[in-house]
Amino acid sequence: MNPGTEMSAGPVTIDAALLARLIDAVAGALISHTDELTALDQAIGDGDHGLNMKRGFEAVLAERDAIAAKPLPDALKAVGMTLVMKVGGASGPLYGTLFMGLAKETPAAPTRDELLRAIDAAIEAVKARGKSDFGQKTMLDVLKPARDAFAAGRDPAAAADAAAEATVPMKAVRGRASFLGDRSIGHMDPGARSSALMIAAVCDVLEQA
Ligand code: ADP
Ligand code: MG
Repeated sequence: MNPGTEMSAGPVTIDAALLARLIDAVAGALISHTDELTALDQAIGDGDHGLNMKRGFEAVLAERDAIAAKPLPDALKAVGMTLVMKVGGASGPLYGTLFMGLAKETPAAPTRDELLRAIDAAIEAVKARGKSDFGQKTMLDVLKPARDAFAAGRDPAAAADAAAEATVPMKAVRGRASFLGDRSIGHMDPGARSSALMIAAVCDVLEQA
């Protein structure tokens, strides 16, 4: 099931086995790209994004079976809280807010429309937490186009990938990269890349479900 094009309008049950596969896939994608995320953050930040995501998702993996056994909203909340507690830097609280925002609005068996509403609420929560908006060269510049692709029945993973690439010519206005001003231009935003990796991993698993 491609979540962008094939997710049915009716409620979808995400059972413990599928949740475990989602956790493995997202954590695996981030951990296997630690060096790439580090290099991206070395170019326009302080070089900790790779290790931040690795530390956070290793902690999620350590609790994987307990988290996967929970109903979907509780599992999302547990992931969010783990990221807030384990990840230093801006990305821990921001990704924590994203997952906790999803948790608040996602029913145990969401319909496509309910999932979209939850994604919208979670993106708004990240904007509020980060005092940030679209177009500022952050993770939001991937989350929004992926959301739009899902809403329009297109592939969120392809949209996320293109959107991460599209952060290269942008000038950072929020986060550490904004300290560089014009020198932030010409590099991909690390949080945009980690968001694209997460979205691709989720889509990959759901396509095989
Ligand atoms: P830090 O910037 O504290 O070192 P990380 O390197 O782990 O934290 O994460 C950096 C990423 O976090 C950026 O690439 C960007 O995508 C995201 N980010 C930083 N500040 C904000 C913000 N205010 N709003 C949204 N995203 C942000
Ligand atoms: Mg950093």
